[in-house]
Amino acid sequence: MAGRTNIYFDHNAGAAMRPQAVELVRALTGVTGNPSSVHGAGRAARAHIEKARAQVALLAGVPASHVTFTSGASEANVTALSPIWRKGRGEARFFRLLVGASEHASVIAGGRFAKDAIELLPVDGDGLVDADHLARRLAELSDEAAAREGARILVSVMAANNETGAVQPLARIGEIVAAAGAILHVDAVQAAGRVALDMAGWQADSIALSAHKIGGPQGAGALVVRNAGLKPAPLLTGGGQEHWNRAGTENVAAIAGFGIAAELCAQEINHWDEIRRLRDGFESGLRHIWSDTFIFSGGVERLANTSCFAVPGVAAETALIALDLEGIACSSGSACSSGKVSVSHVLTAMGVEERLARCALRVSFSPDARAEEVEVFLAAWRRLSERMRGAGAGRAA
Ligand code: PLP
Repeated sequence: MAGRTNIYFDHNAGAAMRPQAVELVRALTGVTGNPSSVHGAGRAARAHIEKARAQVALLAGVPASHVTFTSGASEANVTALSPIWRKGRGEARFFRLLVGASEHASVIAGGRFAKDAIELLPVDGDGLVDADHLARRLAELSDEAAAREGARILVSVMAANNETGAVQPLARIGEIVAAAGAILHVDAVQAAGRVALDMAGWQADSIALSAHKIGGPQGAGALVVRNAGLKPAPLLTGGGQEHWNRAGTENVAAIAGFGIAAELCAQEINHWDEIRRLRDGFESGLRHIWSDTFIFSGGVERLANTSCFAVPGVAAETALIALDLEGIACSSGSACSSGKVSVSHVLTAMGVEERLARCALRVSFSPDARAEEVEVFLAAWRRLSERMRGAGAGRAA
């Protein structure tokens, strides 16, 4: 076996924290002062939060007052998926939630909607939401909406998929949703810092963001709304923190780290072309080893850093362990819970056969990924896949 290396190709699971964020979080950890207190220490803590709010707002292209900090994107998604939103001094009510079948688990679970009010929107073989189906369903449900005296429909479609990197056609989806008088929530976690967050162009009423996907600390996120007068009813109630949108003392250090990460990633949005070339070279390398390598969502626009692939007969769970033993970190599309390895719901929704889905690996590059690391991965991949598969089948000429 080759010597142990240290290669981190799991950026979509958790980005390395930026040194500037580490420094700030360190400096603020242990600093006294509740941001709700009126004394100097409290005001100093508050200032860090408000600075971060402005930084995150800039990334999202909205005024600072439209940003509510949460413990992460899971909380932001669950907050958004509420059957009741505040609308001015009144409220908007939703009787149905339509969610993309390839959404993150925190969206698929449907937030605060009753199970029988949640409906999955099918995706095609590349993982894109079927926009015609969405338009049809919204039209079919419009009579029911009218009969329910103004109750509306909430739609949740992610900007980019965490497993395959597929970028959803949000401008089209937003148009369909707005034309039907429905509301659109977008999980923008994986898109942040990698594609422009165009809330206006997407006609997104809210988006969810996560600090640890853009080089901030774990445990901070945000729900961002496009219109300050239209926002979900709070998930956490009690104190008046976050302008009564989210009760609980803020995690000042994590939020400040989120802010600096948001500012830095907004400046890097055009820097992914090199990583796209690296990813495309990586995929050519995979195909050179095994000509029957499947690249999921390979036919559509994807995040520049993401490659989800499978080679029949090379089980992902075994491959992951073998790669980890060599010091290479990446992900599989399946998750192991209660001793049972389940297949990725994303690939299942895309119609991928279970046998192939069990072979799906996700490699996600950081902006600092290097060609030499890709070479090390490919060499390890060749060794282990030949061992698992035998050197004959599917071999490239
Ligand atoms: N949405 C997507 C697309 C994600 O990839 C993740 C994290 O993996 C989340 C939501 C949840 O984010 P957090 O870890 O901040 O709760």
